[in-house]
Amino acid sequence: MLKIEKLKKAYGKYHALDGLDMTIEKGALYGFVGPNGAGKTTTIKILAGLLNPDSGTIRIDGVDAGRDRRGLKGKIGYVPDSFGVYDNLKVREYMEFFASCYGIEGLMARKRCGALLEQVGLENRADFYVDGLSRGMQQRLCLARALIHDPALLVMDEPSSGLDPKTRLEFKELVQELNEEGKTILISSHVLSELAAMCTDIGIIDQGRMVLCGSMKEIMERVDQSNPLLITVYSNMETAMAVLRSHSCVRTISIKENCLSVGFTGDAHDEALLLQQLVDADVLVNGFSRMQGNLESLFMQITDREDKEVLLYENKPGL
Ligand code: ATP
Repeated sequence: MLKIEKLKKAYGKYHALDGLDMTIEKGALYGFVGPNGAGKTTTIKILAGLLNPDSGTIRIDGVDAGRDRRGLKGKIGYVPDSFGVYDNLKVREYMEFFASCYGIEGLMARKRCGALLEQVGLENRADFYVDGLSRGMQQRLCLARALIHDPALLVMDEPSSGLDPKTRLEFKELVQELNEEGKTILISSHVLSELAAMCTDIGIIDQGRMVLCGSMKEIMERVDQSNPLLITVYSNMETAMAVLRSHSCVRTISIKENCLSVGFTGDAHDEALLLQQLVDADVLVNGFSRMQGNLESLFMQITDREDKEVLLYENKPGL
């Protein structure tokens, strides 16, 4: 449904987006992750039609958005990271104002606004002043506003930031409900565990480029493979080390007492063969498992923010 290719955007000499590629399938709940300054907000603002890219293409349902900026705005609902100030405007007036911006007026506007306020759980707040709402309610109102023209794609920039844990959870459930009803959603966040639990797909951006993307299942498989194997050796450590050093999938070995932490690039089948090899070499193994990892550990590795550990052995392929 959305295909971004080679998107570039510079602020002066600084390249915020440096050839970004991104594909979002229809019906996806796409988590857009990256460290501070990676280019998430720039990408989202370009999608929302608030910034022009320097080059690259954005296609929605096969149509080149660069040639039809108005069409792009019609297909995208945008939830910004900050709400803005709306003095003396009641919730109902706020919604109807935005409805009128999309040419929805009168009875039609009242019906649509009422239905959306109900959907986000604000039906009882229609006559409250916007500025008097809690941060969580304002965020839900923002979501209702973004849905007013029934966009094909909902784009949210860090929508949960500043919300307390309970409100965060409620907001997450609301987003999931919308996705289950068929809305395609892009959501950026720093809270990786939250994204891992809710998204169908994920894209990790760093320095203006996509560094890893795929379905949640594929990414979690990568997470597993990027975690070290933890091997506890009961006896014959020297032989265990020799077997490991000669194995083509072993990248690193760290040791603490009789427990080895092994950087291992193989899959589950390679793991099973390694265990068999150790046993055949008369190594007594009383623990063998992949360390339980999460999206955070993979994110840290990919964006190179992880402190380097002291290694016992490092195999650099090609040397
Ligand atoms: P964060 O998670 O911190 O919000 P981000 O991934 O959303 O970061 P962007 O806000 O897109 O990143 O910024 C990308 C880079 O472009 C950053 O280095 C930022 O300082 C720079 N940048 C963003 N907006 C401007 C601007 N208007 N003028 C100059 N530089 C900018």
